[in-house]
Amino acid sequence: MNMQSKKTFASIDYEKCHPDQCNPDKGLCLAAPACDHKVIKTLDGPFESPVVFQDMCMGCWDCIEACPLDAIFVKHVGS
Ligand code: SF4
Ligand code: SF4
Repeated sequence: MNMQSKKTFASIDYEKCHPDQCNPDKGLCLAAPACDHKVIKTLDGPFESPVVFQDMCMGCWDCIEACPLDAIFVKHVGS
């Protein structure tokens, strides 16, 4: 088990996240399909911001590279 994954995880900056701007045609988050672990989901449908199921985030950061608006950042927990 990789304990590192419990200390850092991806988080959405909802001030920067605008599905209508990153994907104006369909309004679907571009970072969600980039997550091979399927822990970013758009629960509320098109043109709504996604959520990260942080407990399951593996810290690979593929989502960060996939988001054109830099709306995903690395969050550190603990000391
Ligand atoms: S996280 Fe990034 S790619 Fe996903 S909806 Fe928000 S701005 Fe778009
Ligand atoms: S860091 Fe990796 S596992 Fe975590 S949400 Fe992003 S793409 Fe998914």
